[in-house]
Amino acid sequence: MALSLFQNFSILVAVISITLEFVRSSKVQYQSIIMRRFVLGTVGGLLGILLLMSTVPFNAEKTIIFDFRYVVMYLSAMYGGFISSIITSVIIAIYRIIVTGANNNAIIVSTSILICGFLLGALSHLKANRGQKFLIMNTVVALSIIIALYLISDSFKLFVINSLLFTSTTFITSYFICRYIQFSVTNIRNFWQLKIDATTDHLTELANLREFENRFEHLFEECQNNELPISFLMLDLDHFKIINDTYGHQKGDVVLSELAQILIKACRGYDLVARIGGEEFAIVLPRCPRETALSIGRRIRQQIEDYSFCKETHEIRMTVSIGVSSYPNDAMDAAKLMSLADKALYRAKSAGRNSVMLAQ
Ligand code: GH3
Ligand code: MG
Ligand code: MG
Repeated sequence: MALSLFQNFSILVAVISITLEFVRSSKVQYQSIIMRRFVLGTVGGLLGILLLMSTVPFNAEKTIIFDFRYVVMYLSAMYGGFISSIITSVIIAIYRIIVTGANNNAIIVSTSILICGFLLGALSHLKANRGQKFLIMNTVVALSIIIALYLISDSFKLFVINSLLFTSTTFITSYFICRYIQFSVTNIRNFWQLKIDATTDHLTELANLREFENRFEHLFEECQNNELPISFLMLDLDHFKIINDTYGHQKGDVVLSELAQILIKACRGYDLVARIGGEEFAIVLPRCPRETALSIGRRIRQQIEDYSFCKETHEIRMTVSIGVSSYPNDAMDAAKLMSLADKALYRAKSAGRNSVMLAQ
């Protein structure tokens, strides 16, 4: 029995760890909530089946079996809500009948699983803190186990022993698994936050210099390998220092944020827009030939000239100078493309600003 119990526990921990690893590394964050709940419910149900397959028998006839299925049901409800809880309990209940056939005991146990899944799902939406929910939901789990065992036990003694064993192991396991999941979820959140912090400019929420360098290199190689053009725009606000001096640094920050939105809107989803300096921005346009990049640059310049920054308090007018370079016309590597756009930008500044210059 000890070996079966350990086996059951190991399956539980292994599947939870794999699920958490999947959550950490994949784009689960971007899936819809309904989809996530559906997936979680199904994973819970399949885990329940795995646990039932390696179940721990308590009596010789194996009419009373024990495993951690209720831990899975509690977790499914706790982290996936009502939908997830219902899916998990339905899968487990159906499999419980399949595994022993539709005998009296199986029907009683499956019914208790379904009722418990329903109650857990409803209770998961309680407005209570995590600890209170844990206690309430695990009390429901314990009652479901006790009632089912009472109805299927041959003797009162067996019922008491099994009830104590089943409820206490379920309760203790739920507690420690919950702590483990909470710890992992906190780590995953910190991991994603650190990733965002390390790659994003906090003021404009554009890619920062480090992220820009990594992704530009990657995008350049991709276009080069597929024999596609790629263009690069370097932008610098004209006389931005005057804005800070006249309206204050905070208004200067608002101008930078609004400018970032203009740039994002002017680009396609797969273009890379980054803040690479104080009031310097870079735009990488994969699959974009030189002439198109030039017209995009001109359009952006015009949009900025026409835009009123800090509209609520002031009507600040800004202009921008832009340097444009393209692969394969101007350079054969990313670094050279950047330096040529930088030189073109310098020429735009020297020529009186508010203009777009092509690399030479
Ligand atoms: P130019 O047309 O030659 O580019 O002139 P400029 O004034 O835009 O350029 P300069 O390099 O002289 O000044 C850039 C200014 O940008 C100076 C700095 O205070 C300001 N700046 C840099 N980072 C930030 C920031 O995060 N917020 C604000 N508000 N200002 C910033
Ligand atoms: Mg500058
Ligand atoms: Mg400037």
